[in-house]
Amino acid sequence: MQMKELNPFLKSLLGWDLNPAQIQAFDWYEKELLVWNERFNLTAIRNPEGIRSKHFLDSITCALVMNGKRKGSLIDIGTGAGFPGIPLKILLPQIRLTLVESIGKKVDFCKHVINRLELEGTTVIQGRAEELGQDKSHREQYDWAVARAVANLNTLSEYLLPLVKVGGVMIAQKGEAGPAEAQMASNAFKLLGGHLKIIRKVELPGIADDRYLIAVDKVAVTPDIYPRRTGLPAKKPLQ
Ligand code: SAM
Repeated sequence: MQMKELNPFLKSLLGWDLNPAQIQAFDWYEKELLVWNERFNLTAIRNPEGIRSKHFLDSITCALVMNGKRKGSLIDIGTGAGFPGIPLKILLPQIRLTLVESIGKKVDFCKHVINRLELEGTTVIQGRAEELGQDKSHREQYDWAVARAVANLNTLSEYLLPLVKVGGVMIAQKGEAGPAEAQMASNAFKLLGGHLKIIRKVELPGIADDRYLIAVDKVAVTPDIYPRRTGLPAKKPLQ
């Protein structure tokens, strides 16, 4: 699949497609990812086809559970080389984007992409979700908190829900275990002020694996004790 061949798929999925400048931005991002991957281990997917379907398209599917909104604040936790946050920002330029990643080289790559593509209204933070969740300037400040391939939902909900304002949504991109994880995490959602909104199955060209979007509404303020100190949400996930 060539980059411009993403368009028919996007049109059927979202009802709109990419303009030439957006296609150019994805082209440049793909090339840069391939170049940086030769020096640093940014992502396991190392071929153009995989980057287009497993990184770009897959990231963009988050828009399916964003209720057609094209504005608002979005934080991407454990973004790695920018997924899903940067493709979403290229697709929806009006969102205010915050990328969070604990590993310095990945942060450097994200900053490089943001600067080169002039993605305004974007901040990249080297840090941990647990710290940001207790920081007043980030706690309950976002319309959406998203993550892909970062942690099991019990742990992930403690990373994401404290960052979401009441009325906002946590979005987790998950593989085949998504529905079972969502069921197991229902009490964690409740403890953190969340309520499961939807589990949406997503089918992508060139991807045989099941993909799911798990969207959790923030319906109540998160109690002060969450997130617990760094490492604890992963070591002792909420049950
Ligand atoms: N989301 C990207 C993707 O889908 O390609 C990267 C996925 S990678 C498997 C998981 C990333 O999450 C790693 O780069 C790791 O450093 C980061 N990470 C894990 N736990 C984190 C935390 N508590 N706070 C911030 N980053 C975290």
